[in-house]
Amino acid sequence: MKLLEERIRKDGTVKAGNVLKVDSFLNHQMDIDLFNEMGKEWAHLFADRKITKILTVEASGIGIACVAAQHFHVPVVFAKKSQSVNIDGEVYSTKIESFTHKRVYDVIVSKKFLHPEDHILIIDDFLANGCALEGLIDIVNKAGASVEGVGIAVEKGFQKGGDLIRSKGIRVESLAIVESMDDKTGEITFRS
Ligand code: 5GP
Repeated sequence: MKLLEERIRKDGTVKAGNVLKVDSFLNHQMDIDLFNEMGKEWAHLFADRKITKILTVEASGIGIACVAAQHFHVPVVFAKKSQSVNIDGEVYSTKIESFTHKRVYDVIVSKKFLHPEDHILIIDDFLANGCALEGLIDIVNKAGASVEGVGIAVEKGFQKGGDLIRSKGIRVESLAIVESMDDKTGEITFRS
């Protein structure tokens, strides 16, 4: 998606450790008009799929998923990072290793909000090594629901997540795929 690529080029900064900082428009301050265009694009790309719910993970995925959901007219459920363990069996839980925070979180979704008849579109801001997506897919599988696809704002194509998730037969639509980035020069190239 040209609009997103141009914005990353203009306002994104490359940090050491393969981190792309986009906090002026994507995951701290949020450009809602841009999110709206992203939502429109995913709705177009997934027009052939029946989607009954959007699933994301807190915190950065929520804003993007909510604006996108206005083009799908379905509820958004977000997986919560949890401190407490699942003792009463009321939640689906999984573990996600955070790429940016280098720690493992337990994340949960209430069993009330995911059902076997649900067709899920997963949305997230970044795809790096695929840990967040693997966790969300695990939760959907535990609920017996089906994953119709994944919408990602920025995929870092030089990390393993994209291949990992696509090799499971899951359709991943990333609106910008970074082919390479250099923290010394700040140069970012995109996959065409
Ligand atoms: P993964 O689980 O695929 O390794 O990483 C995805 C998660 O890590 C995303 O939900 C995102 O919050 C965070 N993340 C991964 N890479 C980056 C990055 O380059 N920049 C930012 N801002 N977040 C990232």
